Amino acid sequence: MTTHLAVVPAAETPEDCARRLAREFHGADAEAILDHAIRHAFTEEIALVSSFGAESAVLLHLASRVDPSVPVVFLDTQKHFAQTLSYRRKLASKLGLTDVRDIRPDGGEAAEIDPHGDLWRRDTDACCDLRKVRPLKTALDGFGAWVTGRKAFHGGERVSLPAFEWNGKHFKVNPLVSWSRDDVASYMELHEIPQHPLVEQGYPSIGCWPCTRPVGDGEDVRAGRWSSSDKAECGIHVR
Ligand code: SF4
Repeated sequence: MTTHLAVVPAAETPEDCARRLAREFHGADAEAILDHAIRHAFTEEIALVSSFGAESAVLLHLASRVDPSVPVVFLDTQKHFAQTLSYRRKLASKLGLTDVRDIRPDGGEAAEIDPHGDLWRRDTDACCDLRKVRPLKTALDGFGAWVTGRKAFHGGERVSLPAFEWNGKHFKVNPLVSWSRDDVASYMELHEIPQHPLVEQGYPSIGCWPCTRPVGDGEDVRAGRWSSSDKAECGIHVR
């Protein structure tokens, strides 16, 4: 596949470009990775995708230091906790982010596929497809790269993530991949960043209200997500 992104030399495939960047930035500081991605490699063609969840503020704070006008995509699934919607407004304002985009499911598709809003009870994959995967695909049209907040300590496929990837259509940038839970907590404290209000109620990972529960002592950070099934990812990060 060809790409018009300036970062990719003519003789290099996007896959090779992503591997090269991953090698060059292996172990690099998160802000250096983000700065290179936003200000040099992908410039006008990069967006940050944020859930405004438990750990999202770190990446958003870093982005605000690099370029507060970078587009931020928030997938408003219409199933978020009220606390998440309030946090999204307050945090974006506090950090001075000027281009946060609330992306909702297509109204026609929602009326057809999930007319009563209870699809999550029967088919979580279909519900995530309607409320997350399809809207994100539309939101990222016109972008060549996006930034994620994934971290290796969250487990699963995230354990082996590089800082830069190519997924066949977009570059994905993972500046926080090597961060630990303590790193996140220390950064939040150092910069006096407000926490999502549900963290102190036992939610270390926060998604939609029907599919998120608090976790107990000793449980994995994502144990409260889709905890009544073996589902582990919403589908936007299928590799
Ligand atoms: S997390 Fe649950 S409610 Fe949210 S989109 Fe997925 S299935 Fe639907």
